[in-house]
Amino acid sequence: MIEIKDLHYEYENKEALKGIDLTVSDGEFLVILGHNGSGKSTLAKHINGLLLPTAGKVTVNGLDSQNPEEFWPLRQQVGMVFQNPDNQLIATSVEEDTAFGPENLGIEPALIRKQVDEALAGVGMSEYKDRAVHLLSGGQKQRVAIAGVMAMRPKVLVLDEPTAMLDPRGRREVMAAVQKLNQEEKITVIYITHMMEEAVAAHRIVVMEEGKIVMSGNPQEVFNQVEELKKLRLDVPLAVEMAHRLRQQGFALPLSVLTIEELVVALCP
Ligand code: ADP
Ligand code: MG
Repeated sequence: MIEIKDLHYEYENKEALKGIDLTVSDGEFLVILGHNGSGKSTLAKHINGLLLPTAGKVTVNGLDSQNPEEFWPLRQQVGMVFQNPDNQLIATSVEEDTAFGPENLGIEPALIRKQVDEALAGVGMSEYKDRAVHLLSGGQKQRVAIAGVMAMRPKVLVLDEPTAMLDPRGRREVMAAVQKLNQEEKITVIYITHMMEEAVAAHRIVVMEEGKIVMSGNPQEVFNQVEELKKLRLDVPLAVEMAHRLRQQGFALPLSVLTIEELVVALCP
């Protein structure tokens, strides 16, 4: 679905990406981790052509971001969601806001209504469609922002720290909505986060450091490199940290422990 080959990107005075190679399959849920300034947002913006490579190549579904004829079709395939929902919501009501994207694409009204209804259902916000956006919680606002993107029927959803400004409940709501879109609607997801508990849900995790990918694997493979992650100034999920320390004390715990539930089962079989 997404192919990134030897991608380099330089801001005016800063080399932000230094040779990224990454392939993402159709339907995959990929999490990107990395300390502040490692290049995660710069990489995300290349996936929908918000930035174009200084060198190297980005293709989505065979469309090349540097080919002027393929640029707009590429953009329509990739929906972007950012950190602050307040910057992404434009209209006053939930339904109007969700319709904004498809209206701009010039889609006919009857189809817009259908796409908006389905997008709101997809994030569990149908019953709020007449609600004023400013009355929603942070988690609800971010789900409306996701619906606004989904109403344009993208194949790929790129979310850049979508839960960073939310409380724990809002984080759970957004994560559940994104997982549902991935599992039920087969949307390919690229999810940037600092929340290690969210990364556990990924099919694959890549870790960035200074413009490069320095680690890649499934959650078990990545999170069990506890000491290496600490060197990269990253945490591991609480359950992984506890299992790691208990192993050092002689407990024979499987490396598959990633969540509190799995830790409890491993300790009390
Ligand atoms: P992350 O999202 O992982 O925190 P970014 O992709 O935002 O990292 O930034 C990568 C590097 O590029 C950082 O050193 C950052 O300071 C720099 N950078 C980001 N945006 C700009 C910009 N608009 N102009 C110049 N440098 C930038
Ligand atoms: Mg960032």
